[in-house]
Amino acid sequence: MNPGLYIHIPFCISKCNYCNFYSVTSLDLISDFLESLFTEMGMYRGQFEVFDTLYIGGGTPSVLRIEQIEKLLEKAEESFVFSPDSEITIEVNPGDVNATFLKALLKTGVNRINLGIQSFDNTILSFLGRRHSHKEAISTLEMSRDAGFDNLGFDLIYGVPGQDMNGWTQTLEQALSFNPEHLSCYELTVEPGTPLAASCRKGNITLPDEELQYDFFIKTSEKLEDAGYIHYEVSNFARGMTYASGHNQKYWNHTPYLGLGPSAHSLLHNKRWWNHKSLRTYISNIKKGKPPVEDAEYLTKDQLCLEALCLGLRTKKGINLCDFKREYNYDLLIEKKEIIMKLIDGGLIDIKNGYIYPSRRGLAMADSLSLI
Ligand code: SF4
Repeated sequence: MNPGLYIHIPFCISKCNYCNFYSVTSLDLISDFLESLFTEMGMYRGQFEVFDTLYIGGGTPSVLRIEQIEKLLEKAEESFVFSPDSEITIEVNPGDVNATFLKALLKTGVNRINLGIQSFDNTILSFLGRRHSHKEAISTLEMSRDAGFDNLGFDLIYGVPGQDMNGWTQTLEQALSFNPEHLSCYELTVEPGTPLAASCRKGNITLPDEELQYDFFIKTSEKLEDAGYIHYEVSNFARGMTYASGHNQKYWNHTPYLGLGPSAHSLLHNKRWWNHKSLRTYISNIKKGKPPVEDAEYLTKDQLCLEALCLGLRTKKGINLCDFKREYNYDLLIEKKEIIMKLIDGGLIDIKNGYIYPSRRGLAMADSLSLI
């Protein structure tokens, strides 16, 4: 399979309360960052096969001006080879862009937008520390369609303190009214070092208990599958598999990927490496002619096998038992016979047409399944 290219844009206008992705809120270093990024691209020239996905994430890529995005794509094409039908995604925050920007964005070759909607409820948006309002989310969606984007993904968050099932269902219904090609529905998680974690620690807020989180998960899956979406991974839904994120699937099946920018991770064969998180260290390393890599690890066959098991059981497709046995010299049906039978009896997994795959309930407990 072709590799994928990820570019991390490490800037946000403000930090959301729950987020631990690396970004800085001063935009002063955007030009220096882009120059460093273009140099970093040159460092990997010729090392990867033809890319068929490019994902520009962050941070907030929509803080870039349209000319900066054009230049970034031009430089990427100079340094790497892309297949003509590549999936080119950019993350956009509602409220950052206008109709002129979006029309120009389509002309750059970007063919997929992932919108950080998170919620259509102003109270929840404000709790999460998002800068946009319900109204701005709607107008960005409308402008994206009007600009001609026919592949839109929305990110949504559930399990926010104070949110009930009714409120979440309304958010899902509002999202569905725009007929998105893709939906990512994430449970709110408490990441260390975030303001959300501090509030939880002080006892100022309480997150929904496990039972309610499970109900949110099941309701989301039922509602979106009833609306014709495929629940193809724990948090991801597509209106047909042609709209499943080609880029993210590479992370789940060990397809090689190159990550550029601060904190980005890469994988090639059994080597995984990651860049420095600090933007300043990233820039200064590159200025000295050094790759901005913080560290690397070489995965053993056993580690790759375990990862393939964990990641495979997070997807609706599951794991092809013959391929798994051939690749890792490990027969799941023999080695894990007892636990597999228990999970089948419990309705968490099933085996059909040579695949072992999770049920809807199994997807809800994917983290436990991976411990088999
Ligand atoms: S959630 Fe997105 S916009 Fe908010 S701080 Fe994190 S990267 Fe920035």
